[in-house]
Amino acid sequence: MRKGKAAALAAALLLCLWAALLVFQAEPAFEDLEGHGSVVLPVIMYHSILKDPSRQGPYVLSPSQLEKDLQYLQEKGYESVSVAQLLDYVHDPFATLPEKPVLLTFDDGFYNNYVYAFPLLEQYDMKAVVSIIGLHSDGVTGLEPLNPTFDHLGWAQMEEMLDSGRVELGNHSYNLHTIDAKRIASTRRRGESLENYKEVFCQDARKTQALFEEHLGWTTPIYAYPYGLISVESLDFLEEMGYSVSFSCAEGLNTLSKGQSLQLLKRYNRPSGIGSERFFSQILP
Ligand SMILES: [Zn+2]
Repeated sequence: MRKGKAAALAAALLLCLWAALLVFQAEPAFEDLEGHGSVVLPVIMYHSILKDPSRQGPYVLSPSQLEKDLQYLQEKGYESVSVAQLLDYVHDPFATLPEKPVLLTFDDGFYNNYVYAFPLLEQYDMKAVVSIIGLHSDGVTGLEPLNPTFDHLGWAQMEEMLDSGRVELGNHSYNLHTIDAKRIASTRRRGESLENYKEVFCQDARKTQALFEEHLGWTTPIYAYPYGLISVESLDFLEEMGYSVSFSCAEGLNTLSKGQSLQLLKRYNRPSGIGSERFFSQILP
C-alpha cells in the first residue's frame, strides 16, 4: 500500500511539474516582458452633465467643468484610452499604452452625455466609455425630442457616438440599477441559491447585450456594476458571458501589467463643487 502511495505521489508531482512547464511555455512572451514595467491607469467616473446649477451635485457636473477637466488632463499630458486599447495591452505582449493613460467613463447613459460630453470629446480629441441601463434606453424609442435633464440615450445617439470611434458602450445592467426589498442592485440576495442568482444576473445582462446587438451591431466586453455593488460570484458569470472588463466604484488607481485581468477596475467619482486642479491633483499619480 505504502509503495503504491509513494508511486502515486511521484506521479502526481511529475504531473504538476509537467503542467507548470506547459504553463511556462505557453506564455513565454509575458515572462520575457516581466520587468518591462506596468502602467498606472486612473479611471474617472462621470454621470450626468447639465448646465442647471441647482441640479449639480455628486452625480451631476456642468459642461463647463467637464471641459476644464479635459483641458486639465490634456495640459498635464494625459491621453484618454479606450477599453479596446486596454484589452490589447494586457493580451498582446507587444501592445503599448500612452505614457500617461486615463480612462473616462460616464455611467447611466444619460442623453445629456450626447448633448454636452460628446462634442467636448470631439473638440479635445478624447475617448470615453458610456455605460447604458438597458431598460431606460429601451424606453426612449418614440419619445423624441429628448430632454437632457431627464431622458436617457436613444439608439440613434448611441450609434452616432459609436461610429465616431470615440465612444464605447458598456452594460450597466438592464433592470438591476435599483435598490429595493427584492434585491440590492445586481448582488446576490441573502440565502439565494447560486443557480437562481446566476439566472437573474445573466438574464438581465443578456437583455442589454441583445439590445446592443439588435440596434447597433455592438457586442460590449464591459460590465459596469450598478452602484458599484458586487457579489464576487458574478465575476465568474461575467467571464462566462464574455465580459472581460468590469468597473467597480471602489476608489483607487489601477496598475496594469501584461496578462492581467481587467475585472473590477477602480474608479474615482467626479462630483461637482471642486475645481479640476484640486480634484485631479488629489488622485492622479
Ligand atoms: Zn449607475
